[in-house]
Amino acid sequence: MQDSLLTLLQLQQIDQRLQELEQLKAEIPRQIEALTQEYTTIEQTLTDKEHRLADLHKDRRQHERDLEDAQEKARKYQGQLLSVKTNKEYDALQVEIQTQKVNVTEHEDAILRLMTEIEDLSRDIEQTRLMVTTQRQRITAEQDSLQHQLTAVDEDVQVVLDERRRTLVRINKRVVSAYERVRKGKSAVAVVPIKKGACGGCFNIIPLQRIAEIRRMDRLMTCESCGRILVPEPQE
Ligand SMILES: [Zn+2]
Repeated sequence: MQDSLLTLLQLQQIDQRLQELEQLKAEIPRQIEALTQEYTTIEQTLTDKEHRLADLHKDRRQHERDLEDAQEKARKYQGQLLSVKTNKEYDALQVEIQTQKVNVTEHEDAILRLMTEIEDLSRDIEQTRLMVTTQRQRITAEQDSLQHQLTAVDEDVQVVLDERRRTLVRINKRVVSAYERVRKGKSAVAVVPIKKGACGGCFNIIPLQRIAEIRRMDRLMTCESCGRILVPEPQE
């Protein structure tokens, strides 16, 4: 029984290591996914800027068409001035010509403003492209490294599972089933040493007579309060 109980502590350590490995196995794919998200966000920034640039070019082309249109109209009205019969017609044409001249100036200003904006944004896009490339290299490298870690964790799990099988056969079957029972109901810690005269799990005080029994380790002793399996305090 003493061997079984001491080996049970080893089994518990193995199970705790297994649990840590399983957590890592779940955590690594989440980290890989987070990096994918990060890259998507960076790439989206570039796409947004490229769309904005396309819009600016479209705006510019529209202003160029409108400019030509206004120039054309101004020329047409200018020509009509030569053939007017009345002062009233003449004045009306002058108003039209003036309106078109204002339009021409407005479109020219807009085109100049857009050209500056297009130039600035194009430079910005070049820098963003470089940044995207750098970040892609970094993120891909980090993901590769995480993938390797995941493979290593899988291998570790196999090694620890093998160790668990070899440890399990050295423990009395009744002790194993008590251990599994407590583990299912309670936390991962099913075997606890006595700590200052109390249960190391729930800190319930243990009567001295029971402590003596636990120290003898000739039968399975559980905490009357939390049900955990009790073993003596570690020897210094
Ligand atoms: Zn307890």
